[in-house]
Order: sequence, then structure tokens, then C-alpha cells
Amino acid sequence: MVQANTISQLAALLKARRSALQQAYEANAAQLGYDDEDEPGCADNVASLLNSEFRELRALNHAIELQQLGMYGRCEECARPIAAARLRAIPQATLCIDCQRCADRVA
Ligand SMILES: [Zn+2]
Repeated sequence: MVQANTISQLAALLKARRSALQQAYEANAAQLGYDDEDEPGCADNVASLLNSEFRELRALNHAIELQQLGMYGRCEECARPIAAARLRAIPQATLCIDCQRCADRVA
């Protein structure tokens, strides 16, 4: 099981990442409003970047929610603890590596 202090470290990381991403997201959203007429094609790139930032933000928010419920660090699918190394690499992970592989295959 992941240590409580590791979880609070990761939670701090999640929140820092979320605010950085939030800023980047807003900057890109603003850019999307200005640039689409000058540079055709550019808007698409920003839109897809925005989309992936938005998805990551959602994942971060979800992980923070789980952390607040005391359920962070546990796989949402099989309820087994997620490996600490995996959480350090991807703090917003809410599935263990096995369930993630299954989910990736379905998606
Ligand atoms: Zn699992």
C-alpha cells in the first residue's frame, strides 16, 4: 500500500500540475480565439492540444477528488493498490497497470 505521506506529496503534485495546466489551457483557449483567421491549420493544432489538456485536467480533478475521499492510490476497477512507482510517474492514474492495459485495448 502507498504510504500516507507519499499520497499527500502526490496530492500536492496533482494540485500544482492542475493549476499549471489550467493556466496553459486558458492561454491556449484565448489563442484559439485570435489565431484561427491568420493561420489556417494552427487553430486545429491548438484545439487538439486544448483537448488533451482538458482531458488531463479532468483526470487530475478526478484523482484529487479520490484523494479527498481517501480512495486515492487504489485501482477504481479492481480495488487493488496502484504501484507507488506508477503513481509517481502518473500521479493522476486511477487504474492499476493491468486495468489500464485493458481499458487502453477497449478504447
Ligand atoms: Zn486494477
